[in-house]
Amino acid sequence: MPSGEYDPETVEQKWQDRWVADDTYDYEGGAVDPNTVFAIDSPPPTVSGSLHWGHVYGFTLQDFVARFNRMRGKDVFFPFGYDDNGIASERLTESELGVRHQEYERHEFQEMCRDVCQEYEADFTEKMQNLGISIDWDQTYRTIAPRVQRISQLSFIDLYEQGREYRKRAPTIWCPECQTAISQVETEDDERGSHFHDIEFAVVDGDETFTISTTRPELLPACVAVFVHPDDDANRHLVGEEAEIPLFGQRVPIIEDERVDMETGSGIVMCCTFGDQTDIEWYQAHGLDLRLAIDESGTMTEVAGEYEGLSAEEAREAIVEDLDDGGYLLDRWEISHVVQVHERCGTGIEFLVTEQWYIKLLDKKEEYLRAGREMDWYPEKMFTRYKNWIEGLQWGWSISRQRSSGIPFPVWYCDGCDTELVADREQLPVDPLSDDPPVDSCPDCGHDEFVPEDDVFDTWATSSLTPLVNTDWDWDPEAEEMVVGREELYPMDLRPQGHDIISFWLFHTVVKCYEHTGEVPFDQVMINGMVLDENREKMSKSKGNVVSPDEVLDQFPVDAARYWAAGSAVGDDLPYKVTGLRAGERLMRKLWNASKLVDSLTPEERLERPELREIDRWLLAELDAHVEYVTEQFENRAFSKARDDLRSFFWHTFCDDYLEIAKQRLRDEDDPSAAYALQTAHRRFVKLFAPYLAHITEELWNDMYEGGSVHRTDWPEPLGLEADLEAGETAMAVVGALRKYKTDHQLPLNADLDTVLVYGDVEGFEDDVRRVMHVETLETSSEEPPVESVVTGVDLDYSVVGPEYGSQVSDIEAAIEDGEYDVVDGELHVAGVELDAEMFEIEEERRYAGEGVMVEADDTVVIVRN
Ligand SMILES: [Zn+2]
Ligand SMILES: [Zn+2]
Repeated sequence: MPSGEYDPETVEQKWQDRWVADDTYDYEGGAVDPNTVFAIDSPPPTVSGSLHWGHVYGFTLQDFVARFNRMRGKDVFFPFGYDDNGIASERLTESELGVRHQEYERHEFQEMCRDVCQEYEADFTEKMQNLGISIDWDQTYRTIAPRVQRISQLSFIDLYEQGREYRKRAPTIWCPECQTAISQVETEDDERGSHFHDIEFAVVDGDETFTISTTRPELLPACVAVFVHPDDDANRHLVGEEAEIPLFGQRVPIIEDERVDMETGSGIVMCCTFGDQTDIEWYQAHGLDLRLAIDESGTMTEVAGEYEGLSAEEAREAIVEDLDDGGYLLDRWEISHVVQVHERCGTGIEFLVTEQWYIKLLDKKEEYLRAGREMDWYPEKMFTRYKNWIEGLQWGWSISRQRSSGIPFPVWYCDGCDTELVADREQLPVDPLSDDPPVDSCPDCGHDEFVPEDDVFDTWATSSLTPLVNTDWDWDPEAEEMVVGREELYPMDLRPQGHDIISFWLFHTVVKCYEHTGEVPFDQVMINGMVLDENREKMSKSKGNVVSPDEVLDQFPVDAARYWAAGSAVGDDLPYKVTGLRAGERLMRKLWNASKLVDSLTPEERLERPELREIDRWLLAELDAHVEYVTEQFENRAFSKARDDLRSFFWHTFCDDYLEIAKQRLRDEDDPSAAYALQTAHRRFVKLFAPYLAHITEELWNDMYEGGSVHRTDWPEPLGLEADLEAGETAMAVVGALRKYKTDHQLPLNADLDTVLVYGDVEGFEDDVRRVMHVETLETSSEEPPVESVVTGVDLDYSVVGPEYGSQVSDIEAAIEDGEYDVVDGELHVAGVELDAEMFEIEEERRYAGEGVMVEADDTVVIVRN
């Protein structure tokens, strides 16, 4: 039985260990009817550092869903993955060991990554278990594992055969720091300081000049054309001429194009290969020359002449200096503008022409949009982000990366004719760097030398397959097709994730799964917001406002943190609030103490339902209504609404009102009806709180009831008891008022009261009220009570009235004292002045005109005649 103070430190650790040891959250499997399964495609954290708020918050919300559905009788599949195959893990390894991947032979570096990741993963597992997340630890995967490599390579081959993939030498988004191609989704906007330069260009024939404004003068050697807008009356006459590039001397055509932004600078712009997306469009649309001035490492090439070998930054300074010396630099001023950077390292991206593998996206934008609409979104507004991303897509998905530790492409090229050769499916996983191609000679030209593809897959090319990894998607050699192994799990019920990776993870998962299975991979998507600081600001190291999850969990019970995590609507950001955690602790204390009381008042064995007294029937009927409401909110993923409703009903109605009544009744005499209602309600509360307060409810359940895990019991269904809810609420309020009356008058709670008159409806509850509060005669009246409001004074707000009226204040006070004032249209007319509404408050008192003492209970007037 629960006793003493609740000790979360010991209790939480005990249950966390027990849950893992007992496989409490095992997915049973083998279901025939997929509707009895609830499958969650939980996000595999990128192994790039330690646990942060995004994980804690996101996984806690998922855990609410998992626990709720488990208690609703579903076989819950709640797996855990580690995303450890990509650039993030490589960078972690590099920084952890102080190395660069280029310095090592590939396999050696991969080993190093694996070792570093393993340590982080062990730490991750422990932390997730310490949060009490109800994951089935038998269902784990690592994206670098051979099984997942096989699935990822199978995906590549499947899309290749469907004609959805192609290899192309084309302008590519490139990170000079990571030295790899990256995709559009991996870039982000960053506000950076820079300079605008007005540079004078000469028209080749004649002596005319014009000005071009640019932030990137180091791209002058890469300039291949100059563009003018067709509506630009001032400059249109230049179209058809040639311009000469200052310092570098190349001559380029002046062309008209509607994509010129006439609002920026002089309205004339240069096109360099490549400064931005528009440059690429112009290059393709007008068949321009290719002049690459910057290489893979961000260094100037021979195209840059004497600036060759400088970094782009160095070249910029040197070129500006020389432009100035040559009289070409007309002006230079500081600006702050948005640049595109690599989201992993913050380096400004470049555009290079390289050979990469792509997955087609642009031809099916509509289809992917429709697929997104097929899923239920919690909250619905997040669909807009998915939609906006698709509508803004400009590139196919570049999936090849020039990195060391990733999943290899299962591809070789014929050294004679460059024919692409993909591995046999039976062979997978393969590494073309060490494995042989599936043929001895090229089927096209007969050549027998092959070049292995040494690029690796983009991380997201694999993590976008998690629904297929979780459901054992594989090649069936007999049927000669790809099949989902655990059919009952696919499509999965829920994809939970953060809003920051809708474009990365969700979109790419929809694309891949849709192409592979023809189906949308999820029924529902649940998107969580971020944890902000107490002032609703983003936490960041530079602002010094970071509170780490470890710190918080050192100070507070996990259950308190779980309670707080249910404080925002799904999708909204959650501010870190000590008050929110303390509220969780208070609720835990209340639950613990109420449980001790219930335990002392009720027998150990499960009670049969006796003939119920009206008030007990009422309590259980009220609880029914809350069970229905809370269940509905859980279904809608409205965890904060469910939590607040449950807390308030438990705290006020059950603990403050009903429990006091029941205590009195059970101490006075044997009362099977009260005992049954108390036990039944309490059992239900423990279950209803279980998804939130996973540990304390488990402790109570095991202390007081059948044992086993509360998380494996059934979620309460309404009992279907009928009662007049409103009359019961009034009766409860009356009892509360009479209790207060006795306390105020220093009477013992079992003191007799002669007559009590209730202005309100307590029909059916009269006996209960009388018995509980020891009332001789209880009368009720449906008439209006003879109560009037009497103005007793005026309360001035001196912080406003003082400065405004100064020496007049004493006159105002005297007039109020004498009752010489009027309230007209919300203004106080007094002592010849008029006070605005915010300067005063009218004090009123309600007085009962008849015999007896009035006590008020909510909206009901109760008169005690003693
Ligand atoms: Zn980078
Ligand atoms: Zn060949």
